[in-house]
Amino acid sequence: TGVVELDGVSKWYPGGVTALRDVTLKIGYGELVGIVGPSGSGKSTMLHLIGTLDRPSAGTVRIDGHDVARLSDRKLSALRALRLGFVFQQFHLAPGQTALDNVADGLLYAGVPLRERRRQAEDALERVGLADRMDHRPHELSGGQRQRVAIARAVAGKPPLLLADEPTGNLDSASGAAVLALLRDLHESGTTVLIITHDRDLAAGLPRQVTLRDGEVMAA
Ligand code: ADP
Ligand code: ADP
Repeated sequence: TGVVELDGVSKWYPGGVTALRDVTLKIGYGELVGIVGPSGSGKSTMLHLIGTLDRPSAGTVRIDGHDVARLSDRKLSALRALRLGFVFQQFHLAPGQTALDNVADGLLYAGVPLRERRRQAEDALERVGLADRMDHRPHELSGGQRQRVAIARAVAGKPPLLLADEPTGNLDSASGAAVLALLRDLHESGTTVLIITHDRDLAAGLPRQVTLRDGEVMAA
């Protein structure tokens, strides 16, 4: 079984837009995959479905072995908190809080006790190369460092699946390359990593690409 299994998945929005059309896709544990396509091709919609933030109009979404349609909202929240990590183009860090607190607070929903949250947060910040920046607040960090804090937050609980939505979109090319190298490291250490991007060059360097066009998978 895969960590992501989409079977005949379609998504239509009110007003008649078909954002995804009959998509069947399997992503195995441990893969590093780029989901690539131009604006409007359905990437965000696919990310929302895989992230269990939205439900399909038709078809089945299985994440980490669970049929999303069969889970209650409470079970879905638990799946998201314990099994998925999210990284966005905007870093979404709390401005008044240190890097350590930003990362530790990401473990609140997973129900990890305070002392353990701090321990796991320190560990994650070390993994992303920010051991010497734990007490810095976001405004004291560069864009690339902020994104590494956001990645530390996403992986602190060691989820099997990391979803990254345009993770280098707000970064200069050097910082973007460093963030991409970090995502590769996480993949090397066993995490399944999905990178959503409209950047064809970035995607071309990944071991697998899923290309979307007008809501359909072109090549996978
Ligand atoms: P991408 O992320 O590749 O830009 P999206 O998944 O955001 O693509 O969009 C796919 C299509 O669905 C587009 O035509 C977009 O306008 C439409 N769409 C996305 N979200 C909504 C929504 N909430 N309501 C209506 N249409 C939407
Ligand atoms: P991204 O930068 O990831 O491509 P978008 O700008 O396409 O995101 O969309 C931002 C948000 O607006 C998403 O939650 C998407 O679902 C929603 N959205 C996109 N297109 C439409 C639309 N035509 N109508 C309503 N909501 C939309």
